[in-house]
Order: sequence, then structure tokens, then C-alpha cells
Amino acid sequence: MGTTPELIRHFIDGKPWDRESEREGDVFDPAAGRVIRRVALSGTAEVRAAVEAAKAVSERWQDVSLTRRARIMFAFREILESRRTQLARTITQEHGKVLDDAAGEIARGIEVVEFACGIPHLQKGEHSEQVSTDVDTWSVRQPLGVVAGITPFNFPAMVPMWMFPIAIACGNTFVLKPSERDPSASMLLAEWFAEAGLPDGVLNVVHGDRHTVDALITHPDVRAVSFVGSTPVARHIYATATNEGKRVQALGGAKNHMVVLPDADLDRAADAAVSAGFGSAGERCMAVSVVVAVEPVGDALVAKIAKRAESLVVGDGQTDGVDMGPLVTGQHCHRVRTYVETGVSQGAELVVDGRDIDVADRPDGFWLGPNVFDHVTPEMSVYTDEIFGPVLCVLRAESYDEAVRLVNDNPYGNGVALFTRDGGAARLFQRQIEAGMVGINVPIPVPMAFHSFGGWGESLFGDTHVYGPDGVRFYTRAKVVTAQWADPHLAGPDLGFPTNR
Ligand code: NAD
Repeated sequence: MGTTPELIRHFIDGKPWDRESEREGDVFDPAAGRVIRRVALSGTAEVRAAVEAAKAVSERWQDVSLTRRARIMFAFREILESRRTQLARTITQEHGKVLDDAAGEIARGIEVVEFACGIPHLQKGEHSEQVSTDVDTWSVRQPLGVVAGITPFNFPAMVPMWMFPIAIACGNTFVLKPSERDPSASMLLAEWFAEAGLPDGVLNVVHGDRHTVDALITHPDVRAVSFVGSTPVARHIYATATNEGKRVQALGGAKNHMVVLPDADLDRAADAAVSAGFGSAGERCMAVSVVVAVEPVGDALVAKIAKRAESLVVGDGQTDGVDMGPLVTGQHCHRVRTYVETGVSQGAELVVDGRDIDVADRPDGFWLGPNVFDHVTPEMSVYTDEIFGPVLCVLRAESYDEAVRLVNDNPYGNGVALFTRDGGAARLFQRQIEAGMVGINVPIPVPMAFHSFGGWGESLFGDTHVYGPDGVRFYTRAKVVTAQWADPHLAGPDLGFPTNR
């Protein structure tokens, strides 16, 4: 008889929630294809308890000095730094990505914490002296109160860290609803932040699915919602939560193009396409899923991409020397495989076929090897839909203009890359292209933590990007104070509109 899998509980008011939840879900090791843990799925009672805990401590946390908040951030950073390996192993075990990749997402998350360590500087307002005679005006940015974050499976540590370090540094309290598919990383983050000195209730984690999310985003005490996930859900979150009067940033899915001009270094472009197409098995919002080869380089580029894709080692992400791990669930693996079959039936040329992959000693894992399609056309579903798996589509364009039109006609607008040696073409491209993040000879242009991250079109609903300066703006609201302390000249009431003197 097997042992009962460990149950992952919610983290509310500084401790694991000890009551039973009505529902539970399975958490898989995707390389083994078996359940390794269970996760409690919260109903409205747990959501209410988490928001109440966050609300109860909200005023007290806002009163904690900026210096003290920054010190807790620094302590959290030190803990993260010293326990990177443990966190990476946890991510790989539940997500499937290779350990190096898990370490990479932790590094990018830590950079946001480092940015948040600068909160005393970031939250400064502006001051104007003598705006009128004896009158001064200044603006401050104050926290919103209780804010919520809902995150996807593909970056179980980094995406939560895009949100809560900045929200909390700004003086908010936070309720995180991580993906139910790989929930353990967020528990470690919450426990370690508490260990760093964060008061109970400032960061809470509730696990769950769409029922949990709907309870959270309609809760009257939640002031703002940050969401990262697929486009249909982002649209739903944005519509529902803004309708409730909340501030919302909802980042959605993507179909990132990489345009290769005829003058590009084709080896460099092929390396980039394969790294960005198959890293994390294509389960990245910034994955390159479409290569647009501007003729006459199509044949040569496809040959180089195919050669590299065929050499990738697929296996358990915890094993040294593996390039690409499994897909996150059996259901998702089946969905991606179905897209490959549809692509073939719609007439795209499958130059690398990853369907018959065998991984020794891991017969039950959710495996799919790299797939490369050539001669894809814009009507095919492998092009129109976000597949979110190891499927790279190559389209051929006759000119630079046709390539740009193709990118701009696509409804998503997360990231885009151009490979060229022509500075003039690159300059024109970054001005003309309709996407939130542009890479010039850089395939995955994820901005550093001191800039902000976000797409255009169906890749983002809302006005602000996440983390960086936009993160501070999103998690604070402006207040402008006008004050006169000098004894006013007593001239009696004046009902005219105030003007400068
Ligand atoms: P998802 O949309 O299925 O789930 C995201 C979150 O929403 C999870 O916490 C999930 O529990 C919750 N959720 C799922 N269905 C819901 C519903 N009907 N109502 C309310 N909440 C719901 O996304 P995923 O499969 O976890 O992640 C992959 C997707 O996320 C891809 O589309 C990818 O492009 C996108 N993504 C985007 C970015 C970005 O920055 N734009 C970053 C990472 C991932």
C-alpha cells in the first residue's frame, strides 16, 4: 500500500490553515506522471479568512517605517539567496522544468525583491514650495490596502515575486492565489518571508481554482487585483474585477514572433529560436513560438533550426544534461499533441516530429519532444492559437514589410524579436512593431526588475505593466496636499475659485 500524499494547506495569518477544506486537488510530478501531493482548494470561507487577516493588519503595516520595511525585504532576499537550491528542486518536481531553468526564474524573482529593497527611494513624492503666496503643495503615494495576486503554473516562484514584494514594500497587504498545479513554491516563499520578519497576515496564500478566484476578485475588501495567466481568464478577471470597482492589471497569453532578416547571422538566429522555443518545453509566456523567415533565408534557417532541435535531450528535469523536461500535466500534453496532429492535417510540414519520444525509466511522464513546423500559414490553428508547448512554427515572408504586417495583425502583443545586422532596420522595427517588449538580436526580451514587464493587445488588460516603476504606481495611489501655515491676510470670505497670488 502506498503512503498518503502530503496535503498542501493555505497560509493564512502567518500559519498553515488547520481546518479541512471542502475540496482537494492532485499535484503531479510530471516526469513520473504520478500524484506526489494533494492541495487544499479553498471555498469562500478560506478566502474570507485570508482577506480578513490581511485587512486586520493593514493599518499597522502601513505605519511600519520605510526603513523597517526595506530591512525585512533585505532579510527575505538573504533567505532566498541561501535557499535557491531547495526552491529550484521544489519547482522542478512539480512543474517539470530543468533545474537550471528553475534557478533562472528564482534569480529573476530575487531581482524584483532587490528592487523592492529600494522602497524608501521609490515611494518618494514631489514637493513644490510657494505655489501661491505662503502656500506649498506636495504629493505622496499611499498604499491601497488589501490587494490580491493570481498566478499561472509556468513560473510558480517568479510570477508571484513580480507582485507581492512590491505590493508589500509599498505598504499593502497581500492575498496570493497561486496555480493549483504547482503550489509548493509559493508556500516556501510565504514561510520564508515570515521568517524574515514580515508580520502575520501581511502575506497570505490561498490555494484553489476558479471558484477561489471568483470569491477573491469580488471580495469588497480587495482593492486591486494583479493577474497573470491565459487570455480568456485575463479577460474574465479584468471585466469582473473592474466591474466591482477594483484596480486591475491582467496579463494574458502570447504568440511571440521572431523575425529573421536576410542579413542576420543565421547560426545565432537558429540558436536563439531553439533556446527560446523549447526552453521550459515552450511553457513560457515569452517563448518564441513563431519564426518569420524573410526570404531567401527560409531553407537555410529551417535546416539549422531542425538540426539543433533534433539534438535536444528530453528527460527528467532533475537529471544533469537534460535540456527539456515534461509538460505540466497529462491533459496539457494531450492538448499540445493534438495541435501537432492538426498542423499536419492542415498541411504544415512537420520537419521535426517530437511525438514518438521515449524517456528511459520514465514511461508514465508527460512527454513530448520538440516539434518544428515549416510552411505554416496564418489561418492554421498552430499559428492562430497559443499552444504553450514545444511546437515552433516557421512562416515565410517575402519582405520586411510583410513580416511586420504579420506580427502586427496578430491579436497578441507580448514579446517580439528581430534578428538582423542592420541598425537602420532594427530602429524602424522597434518603432513600427506592435508589442510591449521588443528584442533586437535578443530572443526573450524580459525587462530587468527596474523596468516593467507587459504586453499589448490581448496580452494585457489594464494600463500598467507589472513590477518595476509601474508596479509601484499600480500598488499606490496619489494624494496631493496643499497647505498654508502662515497667518492669512484676513479679508473676509471670498467665494471665487482659488487662484494664485
Ligand atoms: P490559466 O489562465 O489557466 O490560470 C492562471 C490562474 O488563473 C491560475 O491560478 C488558475 O487557477 C486561475 N484560473 C484558471 N481558470 C480560471 C477561471 N476560469 N476563472 C478564474 N481563474 C481561473 O493559465 P496557466 O495555464 O496556469 O498558465 C499559462 C498561461 O499563462 C499561458 O497562456 C501563458 O501565456 C500565460 N502567462 C502569461 C504571462 C505574461 O506575462 N503575459 C506570464 C506567464 C504566463
